[in-house]
Amino acid sequence: MSPPELQHLHSGKVRDLYALPDGRLLMVASDRISAYDWVLPTAIPDKGRILTALSMWWFERLADLVPNHVLGTELPPGAEPGWAGRCMVCETLAMVPFECVARGYLTGSGLADYLAGGTVCGIDLPPGLLDGSQLLEPIFTPATKAEVGQHDENVGLAEVAERLGAGAAAQLREVTLAVYARAEAIARQRGIILADTKLEFGRRADGTLVLADEVGTPDSSRFWPVEGWRPGRPQPSFDKQFVRDWLVSPASGWRRESGQPPPELPEEIVARTRSRYVEAYERLTGRTWQ
Ligand code: ATP
Ligand code: MG
Repeated sequence: MSPPELQHLHSGKVRDLYALPDGRLLMVASDRISAYDWVLPTAIPDKGRILTALSMWWFERLADLVPNHVLGTELPPGAEPGWAGRCMVCETLAMVPFECVARGYLTGSGLADYLAGGTVCGIDLPPGLLDGSQLLEPIFTPATKAEVGQHDENVGLAEVAERLGAGAAAQLREVTLAVYARAEAIARQRGIILADTKLEFGRRADGTLVLADEVGTPDSSRFWPVEGWRPGRPQPSFDKQFVRDWLVSPASGWRRESGQPPPELPEEIVARTRSRYVEAYERLTGRTWQ
């Protein structure tokens, strides 16, 4: 139920979107966590505030590369007090229908595609790469946006060009790789490898490309502590690793193939996951989370 000042537009896996009376967009980041394409029944306390603060921090550091959708973080009339720190008032954009992913390292769906055919999104990669290998240069690996419960599907630049035009596809690639390069360098200074990152863009009515959604969070990016990086196995990371590991362990009693929703998370997994999000925030920003 949304208050009269706010028109509920959409609830994603993590964010709830509302239209403000003046046409701006309110994004509220919840504490929901998703894994294996499911929204889990257990929330991670503070996660929404951490994601919001971290996105804001990145938006500032990327603003000279690409404009972003943020107009403010104040609580608009009609907002619930509990939304403090989770809100972004944003420009309403026409979203680009692809997730724009940059990868400097090979893992996840990129690794799976590579093992299946030696390529990722139509890009040939040299033989012999392992889980976690650094690529010779970062690559642009767009994906279609899937509905809740579906996997995003990797596509080639050609498919983006077919749908949006060659010029728009080239622009998305260029801006995505520029953002990745900047963010990767910043993270590296802080002892963190930004293995890959997912960006979402939208356009203003005049066609200007704008960075939207969230950026540089553990939900949209893979962060690996430099000291733990060893290609050839899954890397320790600052994301949902504990949740994923626990879900697929016998302890959870859940089988991914079952098609059943995952169970509640034990307290300890919640606490460890929360501290991973806090640690990612603190290591990247150099600030203390409170
Ligand atoms: P996930 O990111 O885990 O795939 P999701 O995409 O289902 O989840 P959320 O991230 O929870 O969704 O919700 C954010 C939604 O808002 C996305 O659909 C995103 O494309 C959209 N969005 C983000 N910024 C804007 C914007 N400035 N204008 C319009 N829509 C936006
Ligand atoms: Mg999203």
